[in-house]
Amino acid sequence: MTAHGTAVAWSPVFAAHDNGPGAAFLDHQVLLPDERWDRGARVGCLRDILEWSAAGLPSVRLVEIDAPADPEVVTSFHDPGYAAAQGIFDAVPPGSRTEAGLLAVAAVRDLCGQVWHRRVRNGYALVRPAGHHSETDSAGGGCLFANGVLAALRARELGARRIVMIDWDAHHGNSQQAAFWDDPTVLTISIHQNRHFAPGTGGTDARGDGAGFGTNLNVPVPMGSGGGVYRAVFDEVVRPAVDRFRPDMVLVPSGLDASYLDPSARLALHSADYRWLAEQVVELAERHAGGRLLLTHEGGYALPYLPLCFLRIIEALSGDRTGVDDPFLRRWGTDFARAVPAEARELLAECRRLAAEVPEP
Ligand SMILES: [Zn+2]
Repeated sequence: MTAHGTAVAWSPVFAAHDNGPGAAFLDHQVLLPDERWDRGARVGCLRDILEWSAAGLPSVRLVEIDAPADPEVVTSFHDPGYAAAQGIFDAVPPGSRTEAGLLAVAAVRDLCGQVWHRRVRNGYALVRPAGHHSETDSAGGGCLFANGVLAALRARELGARRIVMIDWDAHHGNSQQAAFWDDPTVLTISIHQNRHFAPGTGGTDARGDGAGFGTNLNVPVPMGSGGGVYRAVFDEVVRPAVDRFRPDMVLVPSGLDASYLDPSARLALHSADYRWLAEQVVELAERHAGGRLLLTHEGGYALPYLPLCFLRIIEALSGDRTGVDDPFLRRWGTDFARAVPAEARELLAECRRLAAEVPEP
């Protein structure tokens, strides 16, 4: 069967639940001055832009997830004590954060199956809570369950032998780094703002251990990095590393908080950059994995700009074009963050060396 179309998994519970107040203070800056930064609208507005643009997205299908994941799925990775503390063994209140977390896990597993069996060309799990800061016995940064890790475990159940995870959220993907630290079958790559969040993680020296040494690749880009640095990172580090590793499944923890309007980081991507990034992972998946590609939604807090970045990703995945314009770029052009400063050049040189040492099958 020829795989066709892009499936977007969704539940209204992702946008409905309240994660309460909390500002972030990092490096002595107030990075998220809005006390309710992890609000439902940050995924609701993405669901809405799909609906408003539906006529221009004939290859995109919305899949509504209505059955939460079983507790055993969560405890296949998470510590039972941590899982119990989230209330997953009790009656889960409808519309609660716990219900949203279980639906998110169900969403990534459902799409993983559709992608693996080639029922769709690729998938985007538009979930909340996010997952890439959640480790086996801890949460953090608005995350609850490790959605990306659980997607990788699902892919393995289905037969994947070598999986790559390319995390382009602005913050370090410590979840999958920890989960697959000594596992040689999962190559975890994270591109994130240097010395940001999670505290104390994300350095280039974290390369995995034992049989998994060399299969964790952190690319901590300097503050202010935009399309120029990200293009160099993909061309010089990510693509060579993935070409060596030759995965049969590509997973992307997809945060939209590296945009230049995002309050949670100091990076400078725009919507056309996100399209370019998505085109790269489509191409990598086609080259190595028969096209098998699943993105799982992570951060992104700039409500006025998120929908445009998301739409460009969905256009790249589906091949559709909505004709919806980015009014910011019409004014500013697409080249305003193409510089690759000396600090980034040094990082690229180091990461090129690490990529050249990624183990081959
Ligand atoms: Zn983030």
